[in-house]
Amino acid sequence: MSAPQRNILVSNALPYANGPIHLGHMLEHIQVDIWVRAMRMAGHEVHFVCADDAHGTSIMLRAEREGITPQALIARVWEEHTRDLRDFGIEHDHYSSTDSAANHALTNRIWNALKADGHTQARPVKQLYDPVKEMFLPDRFIKGECPNCHSKDQYGDACEVCGKTYGPTDLIQPYSVVSGATPIEKESLHFFVKLGDFEPMLKGWLAERRDAGGLQGEVVNKLQEWFTDGLRSWDVSRDAPYFGFEIPGETDKFFYVWVDAPIGYLATFKELCESGRKSGLSAADFDRFTLAGASDTEMVHFIGKDILYFHALFWPAMLYGAGLRTPTAVNVHGFLTVNGAKMSKSRGTFVNARTYLDYLDPDWLRYYFATLLGPTLADVDLDLKTFEERVNSHLVGKWVNLASRCAGFVHTFFHGKLAASLPAMEREKYDSASAKLSACARHYEARDYAAATRLIVEVADTANAYVAEKAPWALAKDESRREELHGVCTLALNYFRLLSIWLSPVVPTIAQRAHAFTGGPAARFADASAPLLGVHIHAFVPLTTRIDPKNIQAMIEASKESLRPAATTAPSATPPSATVKTQPASPNPESRIPNPGLISIDDFAKLDLRIGKVLACEFVEGSDKLLRIDLDAGELGQRQIFSGIRAAYDAPEKLIGRHVVFIANLAPRKMRFGVSQGMILCAGDGGADLFLLDVDTGAKAGMPVK
Ligand SMILES: [Zn+2]
Repeated sequence: MSAPQRNILVSNALPYANGPIHLGHMLEHIQVDIWVRAMRMAGHEVHFVCADDAHGTSIMLRAEREGITPQALIARVWEEHTRDLRDFGIEHDHYSSTDSAANHALTNRIWNALKADGHTQARPVKQLYDPVKEMFLPDRFIKGECPNCHSKDQYGDACEVCGKTYGPTDLIQPYSVVSGATPIEKESLHFFVKLGDFEPMLKGWLAERRDAGGLQGEVVNKLQEWFTDGLRSWDVSRDAPYFGFEIPGETDKFFYVWVDAPIGYLATFKELCESGRKSGLSAADFDRFTLAGASDTEMVHFIGKDILYFHALFWPAMLYGAGLRTPTAVNVHGFLTVNGAKMSKSRGTFVNARTYLDYLDPDWLRYYFATLLGPTLADVDLDLKTFEERVNSHLVGKWVNLASRCAGFVHTFFHGKLAASLPAMEREKYDSASAKLSACARHYEARDYAAATRLIVEVADTANAYVAEKAPWALAKDESRREELHGVCTLALNYFRLLSIWLSPVVPTIAQRAHAFTGGPAARFADASAPLLGVHIHAFVPLTTRIDPKNIQAMIEASKESLRPAATTAPSATPPSATVKTQPASPNPESRIPNPGLISIDDFAKLDLRIGKVLACEFVEGSDKLLRIDLDAGELGQRQIFSGIRAAYDAPEKLIGRHVVFIANLAPRKMRFGVSQGMILCAGDGGADLFLLDVDTGAKAGMPVK
């Protein structure tokens, strides 16, 4: 009983090429990879592509700061991204970059088609311009005082203090975060896609996809709000200097990064089709999957809920307008939190994929995420204690132990050969467990991995109860009961194999070792139905170990270290194609820039910055923000400072002995708890996102900092 074969092109959100892959990205990559593997095991044809999102102002400016070309920057990041994703077992057919010839050609083709049909327009737009840097400023590269609550240093699109949204020209005393200069208003010709032309099509598409299961109901409800006042035209151009594709026929006008990013899905697939690298796929297949009216193929996207509008409004409109197929499904997931809170650098819970891999097995995280992922937009929490317990209890305790407890007897007493039949009394129970597990295929397809792993755990419990009852270790002592022992071990190992097959999409590397041990084909779910009987098994090798909590702790500590320098990263010009939980007004958690307003060297010389050594550090009774710190300030003697860093450093004793940087000539301040004699310097935004400054070994208490 197999479903007709489906032919599916799958992609997920493109990681932005200005920083490393982190666990927020991994939630989505793991979700999509499990789906792809499960659909392949169910017998479907699946082509899985992704790429780096390589354009935009952020990448241009970052490359400039590093003194390299944007091309060199994105090439380096591509190496890092592909290595990290590969090491997490993400099995792309092709991983490209949006800065490719194929993407350039396809972007032009789509634009020209929209233009030919009158779906584009050009009109002058007044925008803030940095007269020093000679560039137009994206909203997030302008800061100033909030016109509503008068908080300083707010972005040009929304206030993070009072939540009000506004335009950058509404800011009081605006400044460019690139140069610090006061921006001026300047007019420039911009190009637009007339989204209003596609309103009836989009409404129909949303309703149709919702009914067909290609869009979640909550997603459609959210998108429908956008139609209330009619769809406004979408500004798709940016002025030079900009790192991107130049708009054909124009000078110094570039496509906004969000135009060519989703087109990158198709361009990457085109490269795959034309490369001849995948058997059964040729250049002609590109049209088969992408032209309007393609009915025997599907195009499925996985994205986070922060980039919904780009994928479910702009993207289908562009495709439709250019005579291409609209997406079959846009599967949207929630954000990742760690220990119940937004990922935080100071707590060490903003973990890069590479840091995780340095300490822990990727399949462990894949399994843990699978137990929580459902088809909704609900956030997923990586609770590190539960992570440890669940992996140890489920993967090691319930699954791997089934094999490790029985394999030895098969080799010792039966020449490594399984019995020719299952114990007669148990056959029916085994078949019903197998039938029960076949529902996993449906759960995987519906992206309800939590339901699939629940079934797997239930069957594992049945199998373990059987082994506990039969106690093969006791049977083995009785020579007259060899046949019974053989039957028990054969059944236990068949349960183990059954579980391995159904776990394969989730923990591919461990499952691969399991299949090597039991032998026999296991590439498809259909292989699960017939038990392995009368065949030889291989020697048992340890499949995985228990998580040592020390490794989790080490990963957290390493994350605190590795992310410190990132505090000055430039803002992202696009909402990130990532999945970190953030406030709506600040899509990128790394996007904080200090006010670079200009001062003279004389102004700087007024600061007496010194190194201090922490002699004592303790909580302040009656304050949930402050730590009381005694500093050895060398020639200046000893200082008492009250510092509002408790949320970021909640283990004060750990700071003792550490060197910090502080302002020694700040006027003493009398507080409720005592007098504060200076201020300790931190990077970051405040709250839990604060990072004390370090000095290299050799610096002594009291040394001036210049
Ligand atoms: Zn405000």
